[in-house]
Amino acid sequence: MAYPLSASRLQTYQRCPQSYYFRYERGMKQPGFFGAASLGTALHQALVRIYGNWHYQQPVLPLAWVQQCWQECSASLPPSQVTEGRHILEGYYHQFLAGQPLRKPLALEGRIQGHLQVENLEFTISGRYDRLDFVDDGIELIDYKSAKEMHLPDAETLDVQIGIYYLALEQRYHQSLKQMSLLFLRTGELITYLATAAHKEHVLAMVSELAKKLQADQDWEPITGKHCDRCGYRRYCKAVNPNPEPLPEGLNAAYGGSRSLQLTLSF
Ligand code: SF4
Repeated sequence: MAYPLSASRLQTYQRCPQSYYFRYERGMKQPGFFGAASLGTALHQALVRIYGNWHYQQPVLPLAWVQQCWQECSASLPPSQVTEGRHILEGYYHQFLAGQPLRKPLALEGRIQGHLQVENLEFTISGRYDRLDFVDDGIELIDYKSAKEMHLPDAETLDVQIGIYYLALEQRYHQSLKQMSLLFLRTGELITYLATAAHKEHVLAMVSELAKKLQADQDWEPITGKHCDRCGYRRYCKAVNPNPEPLPEGLNAAYGGSRSLQLTLSF
């Protein structure tokens, strides 16, 4: 069985190997940070419908189609969110769709997966996308953002995300990721980051380091920083707590037991 990796797993590892160990090696759940974002979910569903259900026999999309898709996806929302969502999508329409020939996306809202073998371990890498478009000589990955606050990922997080997508898309489509764009639905801002093979190499180096740790069962040393303020493992962490609690019992069997299955034979 391959060892699963995603951008969020690698980011956790990079931020603090010990919190990675607690979360993914010992299976200790962190308290969730985010509540259900029903308006955001409905907006994502509507955009899938707008691009995915259009017949593409007319080159330019009418606003009425966008409004129809929103009506179909917003039925369970309170009236204030229905109105808010309609305004957001009408703004999207005028900025990105009105008067422009519509190109059919390569794929809509899905999960992309790839496989790696590093240090005699097999890994599955995966990530989610909202939309994949063909650009001139490769692929653009578009990630819709519906939160009220415009939050940009830090440089390190971006490097990991782009590297994971680069690897997975190369395997799936035999084409390179050329750019990743964050599209902020509420403001219409589109932030585009170029992707290069250096992003892929960066992720491969991280996976290699992780693979060595998994094989050697080395210490998963803590790295302290601002992120500790929001860490759900503080009470178990000797770096921020002089008297850390012992880890809950019964976690080893479920997680440590599967480790042997991840090793692959090499001769
Ligand atoms: S409190 Fe900080 S150092 Fe300790 S596990 Fe959490 S993130 Fe790592």
